[in-house]
Amino acid sequence: MEKKPFLTLEQAQQILQDVPTPFHVYDEKGIRENLRSINKAFSWNKGFKEYFAVKALPNPCILQILKEEGCGVDCSSLTELMLSEACGFEGEEIMFSSNQTPVEDMRKAAELKAYINLADATMVEFLDRVAGIPEKIFCRYNPGGTFQLGESEEGFQVMDKPGDAKYGMTEEQMIDSYKKLMAKGAKDFGIHAFLASNTISDAYYPELAGILFELAVRVQKATGAHIGYINLSGGVGIPYRPGQTENDIFAIGEGVRRKFEEILVPAGMGDVAIFTEMGRYVTGPYGALVATAIHEKHIYKEYIGLDACAANLMRPAMYGAYHHITVLGKEDAPCDHVYDVVGGLCENNDKFAIDRSLPKIDIGDIVYIHDTGAHGSAMGYNYNGKLRSAEVLLCEDGSHRLIRRAENPRDYFATLDFLPCMKDLVEG
Ligand SMILES: *Cc1c(COP(=O)(O)O)cnc(C)c1O
Repeated sequence: MEKKPFLTLEQAQQILQDVPTPFHVYDEKGIRENLRSINKAFSWNKGFKEYFAVKALPNPCILQILKEEGCGVDCSSLTELMLSEACGFEGEEIMFSSNQTPVEDMRKAAELKAYINLADATMVEFLDRVAGIPEKIFCRYNPGGTFQLGESEEGFQVMDKPGDAKYGMTEEQMIDSYKKLMAKGAKDFGIHAFLASNTISDAYYPELAGILFELAVRVQKATGAHIGYINLSGGVGIPYRPGQTENDIFAIGEGVRRKFEEILVPAGMGDVAIFTEMGRYVTGPYGALVATAIHEKHIYKEYIGLDACAANLMRPAMYGAYHHITVLGKEDAPCDHVYDVVGGLCENNDKFAIDRSLPKIDIGDIVYIHDTGAHGSAMGYNYNGKLRSAEVLLCEDGSHRLIRRAENPRDYFATLDFLPCMKDLVEG
């Protein structure tokens, strides 16, 4: 698909009057429309609910928008739970994906009456000890081995290695855990699995659903437990690269429905609610990092230096991830220059793009880095004393709103305020 910014140069310049670069900007309209499609695609399932993975974009204004569109939240830490609570999520609107979970976090999830998803069989005893066993509970499945889908049309193959992943439990452990949980009073059970990340294939969810539905039938037979929920988790991807085809959420929903009719309905399990925990697919394409070109450099290669760096968007440095770049106002200019687009960290992997064909970039140009709406700002960090950037919402009516201010040095020094010499910096 063609990569087009949701922001024009004029809109960017308007935001710049209030908020200097770098900042992440989010498209409210895009997010809402996307959610309506997701909910429609799964409307055949009575209990369907998307639990947005808070880690992808932990901003309360965004969570509020998602709540208005009928979403719940998927949390995995104390602070994500606190944030969700502050946004008015409670009880069955919260999924708590435990994973080497501290006591405090588990107790908070129990206090909020969230659905708790146990990532390991040893967590049954742990949960019983620290918070007690609730009536409704999930266990996370790991089939081991390699998960593979056939080659997609573009040749992007979906493959991941659950056998190397730290999450989930074996089928035997699932059955054993369900029995223990039933003995401790649990009555309604969920199954969860996350087998592949950022999949560009309409076949991923249906394939996963097939595996989990069959597992549900076996587990039900082996334990007599009532399986009320199957959680397909995250992993639905977005086309970061221009050549990739978008996932079709309606084809995905229909594919899951077919497996449901084929496997669960004949087993008398047609009352199962389908849950999802998409993060990337929900907000990824509806966010961008906006930065200014502040330097150029000509040595063995051509460099453009931005006022943003990997501390504002870690994915390229961490995973070698591709993020498309548009120079605002030069959307139609020929891409006849080749640049490394870099940030100012003292780290040679601080490169947003390597050998990228772009229009000629001039100092002061506004650079739009696509698809930072999920796992973008959220993965920000403070290495090199770099400060986290602001977040701006482009509202449905075209106006904008600052939804997180940029960090300032005082924020950075705040945790050092026990040092007398830092007092002035922190309070100053
Ligand atoms: C990260 C995560 C998600 C969301 O993953 P995406 O790649 O953003 O779809 C969902 N569920 C759990 C448990 C996660 O850890």
